[in-house]
Amino acid sequence: MDCLFCKIVAGEIPSKKVYEDDWVYAFYDINPQAPVHFLIIPKAHIESAAEITAENSAVVAYIFEVIAKLAAELGLGDGFRVITNCGEDGAQTVKHLHFHVLGGKKLSEKMA
Ligand code: AMP
Ligand code: ZN
Repeated sequence: MDCLFCKIVAGEIPSKKVYEDDWVYAFYDINPQAPVHFLIIPKAHIESAAEITAENSAVVAYIFEVIAKLAAELGLGDGFRVITNCGEDGAQTVKHLHFHVLGGKKLSEKMA
């Protein structure tokens, strides 16, 4: 499958790894929008938030467990933001479900 993030998981494209286990992979965004900006993805390919179902949603809950742990480890105790862009109107550019985790400064109150 021609998917950038599947290739990152496979090690075919380099990334700055934050965390990895059997189910998820986290790495720093190549174009950071905040002092701390990493992405966390399921290793299994899910196209977007619109493709989450009863069959694959367990990994999404697990991703949020890992986010809480990584945020604490990376010094985001004062808060952070989690974003997933979905589809054309959501400005999703990579069609592999990913959650942006942003922090390290007081973020804008603007959401869109
Ligand atoms: P989105 O617009 O939500 O689909 O976000 C895709 C994100 O992936 C953007 O923030 C990009 O900067 C980031 N990105 C694209 N290619 C890479 C890469 N090779 N390594 C790390 N982050 C990347
Ligand atoms: Zn993929």
